[in-house]
Amino acid sequence: MTLRGLRDRKGQELIDGVIEMVDRLKPLHLSIVGGDPLVRYRELEVMIPLLLDRRIHVQVVTSAFRSLPPGWATLANMNVVVSIDGLQPEHDVRRAPATYDRILKNIADQKITIHCTVTGQMMKRAGYLKEFMEYWSPWEQVRKVWFSLFTPQVGDRLPEILQPQERRQAIADMLALRKEFPKLDMRTGLIRQFATPPRSPRDCVFALTTQTLSADLKTKIVPCQFGGNPDCGSCGCVASMGLAAIAAHRLGGIIPVGAIFKASVRIGQIGQARAKQTAEHQAVEEGPRVLSQIIRN
Ligand code: SF4
Repeated sequence: MTLRGLRDRKGQELIDGVIEMVDRLKPLHLSIVGGDPLVRYRELEVMIPLLLDRRIHVQVVTSAFRSLPPGWATLANMNVVVSIDGLQPEHDVRRAPATYDRILKNIADQKITIHCTVTGQMMKRAGYLKEFMEYWSPWEQVRKVWFSLFTPQVGDRLPEILQPQERRQAIADMLALRKEFPKLDMRTGLIRQFATPPRSPRDCVFALTTQTLSADLKTKIVPCQFGGNPDCGSCGCVASMGLAAIAAHRLGGIIPVGAIFKASVRIGQIGQARAKQTAEHQAVEEGPRVLSQIIRN
């Protein structure tokens, strides 16, 4: 079955389902991604204050194809991420109707984070990422910029895939640009992780510490938000690299944080197996405390 074949919840049923889920799983962070979550903007306007009241950090990832609710700009613990994939000529072709003109209109009173997925086509033009930063940095509506690299599925042969030299160049560009553009909110340790992505989902702290659910709130998307059979060796997900950078950090200079993550996940899995024996009926299993919970629309 494809994701499109699933019955998405909407209206009060969606709101109640999400609140019930977070009350049960108690995530620290909830990312709501698409499709485009703003398709359900009425539900989001009700749901988001309820989530923030529960002290959950909430992130909405959107194309900004429609106006964002004005109140979102000032909410604490709330991050609106707008996907902008390249400079206007390339982005407008890929992401219409969420064109540059429409995004600029719809984020007029907002404070957003831009997320740009870097492709092989972009890296064939020297200076592309710098031009991107030069365009978006001056806008006061832009709080931060993040870059990911295009992540293929195993066996894909697409022009979007970065060749090894292009990946190295993207890393070098990001390392240089973060000094020039403070809004490029990517630490050196995170950027360096792009050079050594996890070998498999079993090595991926992001996959181990998050759960991704479809908007039916039952169907798990595995092994990570990409679903299917992602090519981990070519992974370019900024969230994965961010958690890998944290995992690589050594507490007290001795114990890698990743070892603690993995031990915690193992303990969670043992607990999960035991809980399963007594709660077979649960539609969504409780895992280790999740760092991120993602709902597809
Ligand atoms: S986030 Fe990247 S490394 Fe982790 S499982 Fe998914 S594709 Fe693999």
